[in-house]
Amino acid sequence: MSFLSRTVNRTLKSKHVAQRCYSAQGPWFGISDEQKEMQELARKFCREEIIPVAAQHDKTGEYPWEIIKKAWGLGLTNGHIPQNIGGLGLDVFTTCLIAEELAYGCTGIMTAMEASTLGQTPVLIAGSDEQKKKYLGRLLEEPLVAAYCVTEPGAGSDVNGVKTRAEKKGDEWVINGQKMWITNGGVANWYFVLARTNPDPKASAASAFTGFIVERDTPGLTPGRKEQNMGQRASDTRGITFEDVRVPKENVLIGEGAGFKIAMGTFDKTRPPVAAGSVGLGQRCLDEAMKYSQERKTFGVQIAKHQAVQFMLADMAIGVETARLAWRMSAWEVDQGRRNSYYASIAKGYAADVINKIASDAVQIFGGNGFNTEYPVEKLMRDAKIYQIYEGTSQIQRIIIARNLFERAKAGAQ
Ligand SMILES: Cc1cc2nc3c(=O)[nH]c(=O)nc-3n(C[C@H](O)[C@H](O)[C@H](O)COP(=O)(O)OP(=O)(O)OC[C@H]3O[C@@H](n4cnc5c(N)ncnc54)[C@H](O)[C@@H]3O)c2cc1C
Repeated sequence: MSFLSRTVNRTLKSKHVAQRCYSAQGPWFGISDEQKEMQELARKFCREEIIPVAAQHDKTGEYPWEIIKKAWGLGLTNGHIPQNIGGLGLDVFTTCLIAEELAYGCTGIMTAMEASTLGQTPVLIAGSDEQKKKYLGRLLEEPLVAAYCVTEPGAGSDVNGVKTRAEKKGDEWVINGQKMWITNGGVANWYFVLARTNPDPKASAASAFTGFIVERDTPGLTPGRKEQNMGQRASDTRGITFEDVRVPKENVLIGEGAGFKIAMGTFDKTRPPVAAGSVGLGQRCLDEAMKYSQERKTFGVQIAKHQAVQFMLADMAIGVETARLAWRMSAWEVDQGRRNSYYASIAKGYAADVINKIASDAVQIFGGNGFNTEYPVEKLMRDAKIYQIYEGTSQIQRIIIARNLFERAKAGAQ
């Protein structure tokens, strides 16, 4: 019996807590039995481990270490780590299936897990065998997390504006600067850090930056306070200060000047799971709204009998289904070994926008109760907003989509 079968058999024994409106296990893109097992494992984990504590983590902002440890033990985190390092070597599609299920319970907790994948992906796509073994392997040995440090107080969408500097001194690089909005900033064991290594302001982005792996306990690296965010409060967002942080040259990814490409290329693999996470949130909104609409009565009938409410539910379903297809398309493309930036931006941009509408409609269906913390949908609406901002804003996704369109048009015209 495989590791997966054993884990699934062990953990699928107790009964489901909540009912889905429909099954998300359609035949699209041919989900294999193993993928289905992972999906079911994640679904059960979500019901039993995440949903019961999600509101409490939202209230306190406490980092979900206990959940991360349990998920790690079941193979629900770090699934992407290759088999030759000891990982499961899951494709992006399967990690997205897991992401959607976990996000159904709490996208704050899911983001805490997903941000570690974001931090690891530069190493996954650009690390040497030694770097992969050391840094990805470490995350398999213990339930530790990584983080991705690119954004700064003055540079978010415009990554070319990154000011953090790294200077070569002998066999080391010395990093100075300030990062901002780093998820897992205060809890990561190591970071992917993008720094400018060519001081010439005219140098192209493609050659001016270098990517580093930086250990958390390096002297001079100081995470700031945990930021108080609108939603996804279980996740840990911080600024990080780098003051003469010395990094051995062995921790450079690929080589000097390769950082921008690595930092941007990472998103091809990480935007599909972010899109899948937002679909999980959308599905939760739909399920909660369906349930409530059949309980609440106005004018002597269930509100579900009012056509205006039915239409809102139908629009929510249209959004969830189409956003799900979009992440599946983008994940499937990258798993075929093809460049998927276009599809990843469509999936991420579309899912983020549509689930914000879905979350708002869920609150609408709950009426006054929807605006109150005693009911689940106000949290869902607060949690939804960040999907239009992190991993590239909705505007940046459209810039990428349009750029791809014009590149294709140009290529077609030649
Ligand atoms: C909770 C949270 C977690 C995050 N986690 C991480 C992380 O782990 N690692 C990390 O590196 N970063 C992280 N970020 C940063 C995030 O990726 C940035 O906030 C995001 O890319 C936007 O950058 P900005 O905040 O500087 O906004 P700006 O870039 O200042 O944008 C402001 C507004 O202008 C728009 N805009 C900007 N440029 C253009 C343009 N050319 N055309 C049209 N519109 C434009 C934007 O879409 C946006 O609406 C996180 C942010 C948050 C809030």
